[in-house]
Amino acid sequence: MSVHDLKFLEDQLNELKHQGVYRKLPIVETPNEAEIVLNGRKVINLSSNNYLGFANHPRLKAAAIKAIENFGVGAGAVKTIVGNMSIHEQLEEVLAKFKKEEAVMVFQSGYNCNAGVIQAITQAGDLIVSDELNHASIIDGVRLSRADKAVYKHSDIEDLKRILAEKRGKYKQVLIITDGVFSMDGDLAKLPEIVDLAEQYNCLTYVDDAHGSGVLGENGRGTVDHFKLHGRIDFTIGTLSKAFGVVGGYVAGRKIMKEWLSHRARPLLFSTNLPPAVAGALIEAVKLLNESDEATTAVWRNGNYFKLKMKEAGFDIGHSETPITPVFFRDEALTVSFSKHLLEEGVFVSPIIFPTVPKGMARVRVMVTAMHTTEQLDKAIAAFVKVRSILMK
Ligand SMILES: *Cc1c(COP(=O)(O)O)cnc(C)c1O
Repeated sequence: MSVHDLKFLEDQLNELKHQGVYRKLPIVETPNEAEIVLNGRKVINLSSNNYLGFANHPRLKAAAIKAIENFGVGAGAVKTIVGNMSIHEQLEEVLAKFKKEEAVMVFQSGYNCNAGVIQAITQAGDLIVSDELNHASIIDGVRLSRADKAVYKHSDIEDLKRILAEKRGKYKQVLIITDGVFSMDGDLAKLPEIVDLAEQYNCLTYVDDAHGSGVLGENGRGTVDHFKLHGRIDFTIGTLSKAFGVVGGYVAGRKIMKEWLSHRARPLLFSTNLPPAVAGALIEAVKLLNESDEATTAVWRNGNYFKLKMKEAGFDIGHSETPITPVFFRDEALTVSFSKHLLEEGVFVSPIIFPTVPKGMARVRVMVTAMHTTEQLDKAIAAFVKVRSILMK
């Protein structure tokens, strides 16, 4: 036996199996729709971030094909060398207008955006203050920064205030970072109170609105728009991989911010720019959102219906304020087993366990989209009730 047989990884995997939390990657054989073929079986899909159905939208597909014909399949370089095509510039312009901000810088993903922006805008001698439930990409982005770090209790304004009162005087810049919509629970950040505190203590604000983009606010403008806080948030981050249906991330804010990022955001300097097809499809996505709020309205209608019916059926769905619906079972093995049984009933809902959420907070997370029919949602709820009667009585 040698180290190269990776026995140490096998041991760790066996430990996962022992805990009942081992899983294989599911394989999808169809476009991401309300119903998909998963591992050879047709199932209702309640786990995608494709909120508005844009991932397989005919107009986005046509725009992507046109972009390929005009610009080819690859950008050919990082953005800062020769990978910044006019179609990328156009995407940034329409996004800035959509977000009602001076400028937008687009990244290869939301993850890359957090990894690039946080370290570019902070330095030694600064402090980052972060909500304890912030997304993993924020946590990783913060780790890359040379600034000091402090964490406040989830959405606890008193705790945030305590940290600012104690520490603000010791630092040059202080950056407060929060998710707009918390991705695992579906609750909203208390943005108006956070912004008031930030102004009182002269801090910068950074909102990652990955799950709010395309879902909250007028025509899906996001959480900042929902709370009418335009002009009071310094950095608004969003993803183009969820409601927008394709892939990418962006930060919206001041022109000067964009100029600085083009010199110092490492994902833009050291990783190839998005393919032109992605930019083309996304320009069409923004156009669709500007034209009509039909899809955004449908997400909320479906989300509210599902949450109401699940509550009536006696499930613990926490305190979501968005279409994201966690269904809590707390025990990890029970959660994984519940998801497996749901799949046997033709409903795919992925389990969310440690390390994505703390131990003892395991849940399945239902993502209701604009595409689901009432019939599909009813079928899913009936499956939840049936599986509960098998596993929990
Ligand atoms: C999904 C998500 C991301 C990552 O976005 P990608 O475009 O998928 O990389 C970042 N932040 C938050 C809050 C998210 O929910």
